Amino acid sequence: MAGVRLENVLKKFDDVVALKNIDLEIRDHEFLVLLGPSGCGKTTILKLIAGTEKPDEGNVYFNEENVSGVDPMKRNVAMVFQNFGLYPHLNVYKNMAFPLETKKMKKDEIRKIVEDTAAKLDITHILNRKPRQLSGGQKQRTALGRAMVRDPQVFLFDEPLSNLDPKMRLEIRDLIADLHKSLNTTFVYVTHDQGEAMQLADRIVVMEEGVIRQIGTPSEIYNHPNCVYVASFVGAPQINFYASRLYDRDGQPFVTIMGTDFAIPKKRLEESYYRNANGNRIIAAIRPEDFRLMPEREDLSGSYVEAAVSKFVPMGAGIHVEAMIRDICFTAVLPNHTEVTVGQTMKLFVDPECIHLFDPDTKESVTCSMDAPN
Ligand code: ATP
Repeated sequence: MAGVRLENVLKKFDDVVALKNIDLEIRDHEFLVLLGPSGCGKTTILKLIAGTEKPDEGNVYFNEENVSGVDPMKRNVAMVFQNFGLYPHLNVYKNMAFPLETKKMKKDEIRKIVEDTAAKLDITHILNRKPRQLSGGQKQRTALGRAMVRDPQVFLFDEPLSNLDPKMRLEIRDLIADLHKSLNTTFVYVTHDQGEAMQLADRIVVMEEGVIRQIGTPSEIYNHPNCVYVASFVGAPQINFYASRLYDRDGQPFVTIMGTDFAIPKKRLEESYYRNANGNRIIAAIRPEDFRLMPEREDLSGSYVEAAVSKFVPMGAGIHVEAMIRDICFTAVLPNHTEVTVGQTMKLFVDPECIHLFDPDTKESVTCSMDAPN
């Protein structure tokens, strides 16, 4: 088992800079998810850990050992791919036994390891089948088995659920989560699916164009995105952004969003940021699920917006409502029993503690976490 560290890593492919200044510490036993859009450099990080690519600058460490020049075969790392990577001419047993045979292990030892692993993965009954006779889920279980028999110090997963149907995706996702608990090994997992990342990760690394934008627990990433990019990438439906204005009214910060003033709790903003603000530009953001419908008779002394419903989609667990105020369109998610009609005016309450604020020039967050110590 190993912790992995990438130190100041730069990786280029000809003139494409795939990774820039990557400093990343993956803790021993951690489930770390690399999240980002296609081409942002996630797979390249896995390859640098596996050793199939070498950094142009910087180093890769396993525990404290610099493995930058160490051959992939000597790293004891196992990789699971989205296309399963099984040998088509070998049956499930032989596919799983292959890494052990290359180590010249004794036949009966190999049999015991393969059979024990197959039992854990519930594939004992298909050990004689060839890959073409397997479902997608069975193929991925076999690939997991082939990784597990090696007892690697690090497991690498490159979008392992992408080629599975939705039901099988959930099944294999839960299996991978269970394996992480039972194997107690370091898992590094690549996906562009934020839901998968939130469900599996101890920590998520959000990437964009070869750089790391934020590293944090799923809750930190979701509740306290450190920049506009992370806020927009994580969360479905997407967070709503508003070009807003910031005011200092006798030492109390306010933002005006869609014509409504919201008093921002003072401890959420550095005083120096809002002192003497008088309509300063600021980007405000509200997650769709942070709008609450206020019943007519309730005292509306808090801050709310009044918007007309332009469209709604019942999604089972909730209703996605598109609403308009003047020319501003935004999305709110309301409980599934809410009665909604197109054209209806809704009063939607927003707790100011849920409003995220970003500097319009740097695009970085200017709001502190409410959990932060005073
Ligand atoms: P995806 O989700 O599509 O797999 P990714 O985030 O894993 O994308 P990488 O595969 O790490 O992205 O690629 C990062 C960048 O490096 C991309 O611009 C890609 O085109 C480029 N790249 C990766 N491998 C090579 C290669 N062998 N030769 C040239 N360019 C490459």
